[in-house]
Amino acid sequence: PPPAEKFEYQAEVSRLMDLIVNSLYSNKEVFLRELISNASDALDKLRYLSVTDPELSKDSPNLDIRIYADKENGIITLTDSGIGMTRQEIVDCLGTIAQSGTAKFLKALKDNKDASGDNNLIGQFGVGFYSAFLVADRVTVSTKSPRSDKQYVWEGEVDSSSYTIREETDPQLIIPRGTRITLHLKQDDKAFADPERVQKLVRNYSQFVSFPIYTWQEKGITKEVEVEDDPAEANKDNMDDQTEKKKKTKKVVERYWDWDLTNETQPIWLRNAKEVTTEEYNEFYRKTFNEYLDPLASSHFTTEGEVEFRSILYVPPVSPMGKDDLVNQKTKNIRLYVKRVFISDDFDGELFPRYLSFVKGVVDSHDLPLNVSREILQESRIVRIMKKRLVRKAFDMILGISLSENREDYEKFWDNFGKHLKLGCIEDRENHKRIAPLLRFFSSQSEDDMISLDEYVENMKPEQKAIYYIASDSVKSAKNAPFLEKIMEKQLEVLYLVEPIDEVAIQSLKSYKEKDFIDISKEDLDLGDKNEEKEAAVKKEFGQTCDWIKKRLGDKVANVQISSRLSSSPCVLVSGKFGWSANMERLMKAQSS
Ligand code: ADP
Ligand code: MG
Repeated sequence: PPPAEKFEYQAEVSRLMDLIVNSLYSNKEVFLRELISNASDALDKLRYLSVTDPELSKDSPNLDIRIYADKENGIITLTDSGIGMTRQEIVDCLGTIAQSGTAKFLKALKDNKDASGDNNLIGQFGVGFYSAFLVADRVTVSTKSPRSDKQYVWEGEVDSSSYTIREETDPQLIIPRGTRITLHLKQDDKAFADPERVQKLVRNYSQFVSFPIYTWQEKGITKEVEVEDDPAEANKDNMDDQTEKKKKTKKVVERYWDWDLTNETQPIWLRNAKEVTTEEYNEFYRKTFNEYLDPLASSHFTTEGEVEFRSILYVPPVSPMGKDDLVNQKTKNIRLYVKRVFISDDFDGELFPRYLSFVKGVVDSHDLPLNVSREILQESRIVRIMKKRLVRKAFDMILGISLSENREDYEKFWDNFGKHLKLGCIEDRENHKRIAPLLRFFSSQSEDDMISLDEYVENMKPEQKAIYYIASDSVKSAKNAPFLEKIMEKQLEVLYLVEPIDEVAIQSLKSYKEKDFIDISKEDLDLGDKNEEKEAAVKKEFGQTCDWIKKRLGDKVANVQISSRLSSSPCVLVSGKFGWSANMERLMKAQSS
């Protein structure tokens, strides 16, 4: 056979392996979850690619995962009939870190300088394939891609900076397609190679995997076997002829070993929503999206009729990209299936508007073709309808959080995703009715707790016709603006728009419940209390003063006017009715400098 070739790991991999080996992480059992999740990914890939290229799966139609635990020797073998890896793919996938889960882990590690956090992080993110080294000191991966005519073996050992690749030559180990991973467990971890324990772990960690997982188990079958009459017994009871002549049988249990289907393969979204518990939804969320925290809300629904699809949507508890980076990241937040076949998690942009890109979930369509591409999605009428329904459901779900008895939930939501909704005001006119009730702002009468527009409207004075707002850079400076004097005197409430995006968002809405939004810093503020006579008199008296001031200031101001809006300040600078507000000027300046 050709000799094994030796390779060095990429530096990051070595670092990661070091970390794993030296970690005090007690929950080592996650290795099984990680390996099963890779097997499931590989099966997904094969199933998806076979749609357009049936040749790929011709060597073995079965799509499953088999786990064999050898207690005596402390060895666990996990075999899948997925896409496998070519020689080059082995080098790319198992020798370098390019992949999502582990990359996420390393990033979290970098952000979390506190070294004691490391052990928890392994549990939170999983460390992918390398988690095998939590329990094994030697790992072999024997893999056959349908695109390669040879099967290769990767072999790595704990505490080594290199691995080897060779061709598989043992005819007994040749598989038609897929990957077999063999874990030679560390002395202290041999107990993991216990069939019952493996079975428990699979049930615990991988019940949402949609391919069958078989584990090798000892089973018992109960049989009735005939037994010889005991002569002593017969003598004792010789009065009763009937029973004496009846053949006697005995139940015995016959033991044997066989593959046992260990998981439930029906995807959770196909189940009846009434029968799924919140904990199951949460667990599905954590496992599917590799998350640590439970979602804030979930929504499971089916649509029938014109377009048929099923979906479970989630609102995450925190914004993964940080609150300020709104929409420009690739999210992989929506997993698209067609008739249960996983298609891609790259199409979120086609199914949700970008301001809702934080919503996570699965969507399983009945109507799309299996070989669906981005181009098809973009032009499809079906997708347009799906998108509309998904967006509506997402809003219902968010509204649900806002109506929850637990006010903190919505505060959390708003803190993380408020900006997204404001962006929605600007970008999605069609859904203004759904977005507006979800908005929250500080106000002159509620400086510490944000209020909704509904609360504002309820609190309006009987004669008040408009919703007043002032845009500023903080509650403090909004509060001290001279524009507020008169309005406060009348005890009218004013919304404080203190985030840069607020003003544009409100201007896009224009009105709420038929009440216009009015910027109190603009020149024509009308509080409905005009006293024309008095104004005329004042104008007469101070007209010349105004002209004089305008002359002195020249082009620096557009106009100098008598105003009734102030009560204690002598004068105020306002923006023109059609010009930018002072706040916008400030923002534009900040951007151009
Ligand atoms: P991730 O699953 O996040 O991509 P892993 O470290 O778990 O990261 O796996 C690294 C890569 O190795 C996978 O992306 C995949 O390309 C490859 N791989 C791992 N296990 C298998 C498998 N059973 N079959 C095919 N490819 C696999
Ligand atoms: Mg993985």
